[in-house]
Amino acid sequence: MLSTPHLLVGAAIGQIIPNPALAIPLSFLSHFPLDAVPHWDGGAPKPPFKLTTVLKTILDLSFGLALIFVITSGKQRELSILASSLAAISPDIIQGTITILDLKWKPLKVFATFHLNIQGRIGPVIGLYTSAVTAVIALLLLLKS
Ligand SMILES: [Zn+2]
Repeated sequence: MLSTPHLLVGAAIGQIIPNPALAIPLSFLSHFPLDAVPHWDGGAPKPPFKLTTVLKTILDLSFGLALIFVITSGKQRELSILASSLAAISPDIIQGTITILDLKWKPLKVFATFHLNIQGRIGPVIGLYTSAVTAVIALLLLLKS
């Protein structure tokens, strides 16, 4: 799934669950069922990456983070919400690090294989719709609380 829905779901979890010791691990775990939802995210690119792939990734991450910054700015638990959102996207960051650095440590390879195998990737038309619906639901939960 794109970064923005993951970030928003993590932020919503951080908003709804006031205890960061619970919200942050739950946000991390939220990543996996979301990746299993049929979605489109452009696939799992391998190095050497195209410039457009890098720019799309940076744009997606920046958009999601900026949105969360704007929404949570000044809230009492802003830092906790941000930490939850980062925890929610961290499996993709771990995956990217494993891929870019070609890390061979067995536990990381097991994680990478699991993460790639749970992907519910489909075409962009319906796949972007499911990502958008996920993002909107998380956004509403984040704004409501
Ligand atoms: Zn993922």
